Amino acid sequence: MAVTGVTLRLDGARWREHLHVVSGATPGLIPVVKGNGYGYGLARLAEESASLGVDTIAVGTAQEVDAVRDIFGGDIVILTPWRADDDRAVELADDPRIISTVSRLSDLRSIAEHGGRPRVLVELLTSMRRHGIPTTELTEVAPLLEQLDFRGWTIHLPIRAEGRYPEAEKLSRAALATALGPLWLSHLPPEEAAALARQLGGAEGEPAALRLRVGTRLWLGDESTRTTTATVLDVHQVRRGERAGYRQRVVPADGWIVVVAGGTSHGIGLEAPTSAVSMRQRAISVATGSLEAAGLALSPYTIGGKKRWFLEPPHMQSSLVFLPRSQTPPAIGDEVPVELRLTIATVDQIVTD
Ligand SMILES: *Cc1c(COP(=O)(O)O)cnc(C)c1O
Repeated sequence: MAVTGVTLRLDGARWREHLHVVSGATPGLIPVVKGNGYGYGLARLAEESASLGVDTIAVGTAQEVDAVRDIFGGDIVILTPWRADDDRAVELADDPRIISTVSRLSDLRSIAEHGGRPRVLVELLTSMRRHGIPTTELTEVAPLLEQLDFRGWTIHLPIRAEGRYPEAEKLSRAALATALGPLWLSHLPPEEAAALARQLGGAEGEPAALRLRVGTRLWLGDESTRTTTATVLDVHQVRRGERAGYRQRVVPADGWIVVVAGGTSHGIGLEAPTSAVSMRQRAISVATGSLEAAGLALSPYTIGGKKRWFLEPPHMQSSLVFLPRSQTPPAIGDEVPVELRLTIATVDQIVTD
């Protein structure tokens, strides 16, 4: 298929195999379907979640619910803490397929007063210090749960491994001493989760109920299932000392300017080129041939087997990349590899093989 722009090519069979391996190894898996859909889009991930056979997915915000609810038929957790002044979140509290996350005592009071026994998860504050109710306030939580359909506790751990397990255990014990319910965890590897479930289990030896939310490791965990490329839109021969680009920057050496698809709108190369380089320093570095010292930034585009330098920061939908004279330039229409951070990327198309 002839495509142009920035393309994510997916080996569909291998990707699905990876999804099945992760879901098989993660009892109680809750796929996280939020933001830019990890590069694939929310609809696509909702569809894949449905075919994985999970009963619940998690979206990031109340506004994301509409993008998934007609595609995925199960329960939908909203991860962003519920607030009484968020109209959409309040509306969704009445929806029988929605589970709201409540992360402040004042909000727990408000949603309890809302009536209709909304389904809620109560979030505990972790060392992340993002959202959550501190364990010191747990005694006030218990009575409020009677007016709610309490679905469990949520604990969002940092990614750093050190101290993670003891923290998960300590918080889980405090939670379960307040009210019994499943524990919904993030960033705890399945082996540690299994150990925790056993450790917190009931007197008869049955393990505690755990649900594990996974995004990156599920959707993006196997890099070999995908490639990302960009179309070469134009190629111009240039000589050292000539000027080019929006900023009319001096070209550092003889070579080519390769105009490639992909720019800020695709989430490409947002890191600014070295800025604190004076014109004099730049002139010296240009003379000595060091492109980095010349104030150029390394681009995510690979041409001729190497990452090449941006001539200037990426434009909205294309980028100017410098290729030295020693290289054979690509042809217009060629596709070159581009390294994308898929959690911030927006591609022009996804091609599934
Ligand atoms: C985004 C998010 C996740 C998923 O994080 P990944 O690192 O992508 O797996 C899990 N839990 C919560 C609460 C989140 O906000």
